[in-house]
Amino acid sequence: MIALLSGGVGGSRLAAGLYDLVGERLVVIVNTADDEVIYGLYVSPDVDTVLYALSGIGDWERGWGIRGDTFRCNETIGRLGFENWFKIGDMDLAVNLLRTKMLREGMSLSEVTGELARRMGIRCRVIPMTDFWVETRVVTKEGTMSFQEYFVKRGTAPEVLEVRRVRSPDEAPAPGVVESLTSAQAIFFAPSNPILSVRPILETKGVEEAIRRSGAVKVAVSPIVGGRAMRGPADRLMVAFGYEPGVVGVAQFYEGLIDGLVIDRADEELAGTIRSRFGIEVLVTDTLMTSREAARWLAGEVLNFAVRLGGTRG
Ligand code: GDP
Ligand code: CA
Repeated sequence: MIALLSGGVGGSRLAAGLYDLVGERLVVIVNTADDEVIYGLYVSPDVDTVLYALSGIGDWERGWGIRGDTFRCNETIGRLGFENWFKIGDMDLAVNLLRTKMLREGMSLSEVTGELARRMGIRCRVIPMTDFWVETRVVTKEGTMSFQEYFVKRGTAPEVLEVRRVRSPDEAPAPGVVESLTSAQAIFFAPSNPILSVRPILETKGVEEAIRRSGAVKVAVSPIVGGRAMRGPADRLMVAFGYEPGVVGVAQFYEGLIDGLVIDRADEELAGTIRSRFGIEVLVTDTLMTSREAARWLAGEVLNFAVRLGGTRG
């Protein structure tokens, strides 16, 4: 079994590539710290991005939502004078209505996600990191705001001072999360935002410990390419949170947790530094997943790298 820790855009792309190669042997554990209630709907953006990518209906270029979706509902909300900066497409809306309905009927988020995945024809498991509500508050120079206000409404413009997460004291990982991590042969960290997407999963009670205890080969793919995030604020946030710029900061973030790091050819000259400073093996390859074919290719590289690392480790 192969476990992947995933956020939205970067995560869903690698998830799709891996799924094409290993099918139901894949388990995707998804960040839910970006979840928000919008117009009374329970929206889980990273989970949906993963579901849409795996089932092949996602908008690959845009990185979120459903390909060919229309926004008539959203436009109508705007026309009626309400805030409509959070764009949910009409088809996307159907999924969010159904999630909210099933949650109201008493199903857990992981049960709902499993049900949606099944109905979308996805054969591998997609598990939200937890069934408990996690709220992210972003403290910026321009005030404290919700995650989606910072990310979508403000386009990540305000300078971030702190990211706070409000989590239930009796929170637990969703069923299957710890078990998958413990029994996996390989654990992959997607090229997702370390601060906003990976850290919330690691902070979920028991998850980091399960990863450390697991005998799996652990490999991360860098979301930083050529010193910069391909999109989003990952590069700025890493530096704001005290990490060195670029892929060295990514290695610092994962230090002690991974056996190998996959970096892009654009960052090739830093491979030696990462090996000697952090004792992490490095694979230098093309990491841009511009299409599903490119994602499948990168997934193959990551799998081969993990096999090699597993072999040398004995
Ligand atoms: P979000 O939840 O939608 O913000 O997405 P993630 O946290 O999963 O991913 C955001 C990160 O994915 C950004 O830092 C991007 O640089 C990275 N990313 C997106 N597409 C790719 C890709 O094709 N290759 C690599 N290496 N990173 C990517
Ligand atoms: Ca996200």
